[in-house]
Parts: sequence; structure tokens; C-alpha cells
Amino acid sequence: MPELNIYVYPQHKAGDFDADEAAKGVKRPLLQQYERIRRGRAPLALYPLHGEACGHCYTAVPLHRRQDILNSQSVTACEACGVIVYHAAH
Ligand SMILES: [Zn+2]
Repeated sequence: MPELNIYVYPQHKAGDFDADEAAKGVKRPLLQQYERIRRGRAPLALYPLHGEACGHCYTAVPLHRRQDILNSQSVTACEACGVIVYHAAH
């Protein structure tokens, strides 16, 4: 498994994200981040990209971060609101 290959479920709606399943593939720091976000203010921890922006707060995501997401090399946390942003494949 590549170092940055983080397992996400873009085919699911954000609310259906299965933390137990994801824990098998998600590196610990990201999982801890996910759990922290889940307990925090954001109503959902995962949001798909909305064009060039975070799907939660619509703050633009920097290009190099979006490219990482689109290449499925990584997921990234929104700099503005802290939710994890992923690429919805459809
Ligand atoms: Zn955001």
C-alpha cells in the first residue's frame, strides 16, 4: 500500500462514512483528526469537493491539495472549517 493511499468511500454519502471500516486503511493521525472533527462543530466530518472549494464552507481549496485529492493520493482537511474534503467520483 502506498504511503499516502488513504482509504475513503467516495461512493457513500458523507453521513454513511464507516469509521470502523475506514480504520483498516486510514493512517492513525487522519483517523484521530476524523474523530476530533466528528465530535466538533461540523455536522458532518467529510464533505465532497464543490468545484474548487470545500463542500461545507465553500472556501477555495489550494490547487496542489485538490490535485492530491483528485489523484486519490490523499484526503485533506479544509483550512477554513476543518472538515475532511474528498473528491466525489460521480
Ligand atoms: Zn471548509
